[in-house]
Amino acid sequence: MPLHHCQKLLIRLLITLTASLSQSPHGRDIPLPPRDAVIKWHSRDSDGNYVVPYSVTGLFHHYEIETLEQAMLHIEANTCIRFRARRSERFYAEIRNVKGLGCTSGVGARANGDLSVVNLESPSQYECTKYRNVVHELLHLIGLNHEHERYGAHKHIIVHYENIRPGIILIIIRY
Ligand SMILES: [Zn+2]
Repeated sequence: MPLHHCQKLLIRLLITLTASLSQSPHGRDIPLPPRDAVIKWHSRDSDGNYVVPYSVTGLFHHYEIETLEQAMLHIEANTCIRFRARRSERFYAEIRNVKGLGCTSGVGARANGDLSVVNLESPSQYECTKYRNVVHELLHLIGLNHEHERYGAHKHIIVHYENIRPGIILIIIRY
């Protein structure tokens, strides 16, 4: 079955996601564990795009908010995902800045209306509010995981542990 336009774009972004992980110093990037099954963002706008409502509750500098908005625009330009400031939606994402939590995001929406949380710690040695890291965490939020964590990854990927920078936490899940 041919891939939907949106899927093709997501695959391109998935490659970006993996590449940014290997270049990134954000050793704290830990998406929530697999039991947090990927749930799709399901509400759509009148053009058929998938909407991710969000609110920013963390304390960020104005330039960090600009980076966040640019990262959202980058994803929107390449997918049928649209980030929209939350009004009263039950399923939504909260962008936080909690000290000690680093750069983290769940993968996809949460089940049962639970809140989806993206943490972009700032200031932080992991530079969570750097453009590429914000894009990375937002890609988790819309449902993408790392290539080395996907089903059957161990059959196709050889991990050169000697090339992993000290301090980087690499999660390998074998299915
Ligand atoms: Zn990640």
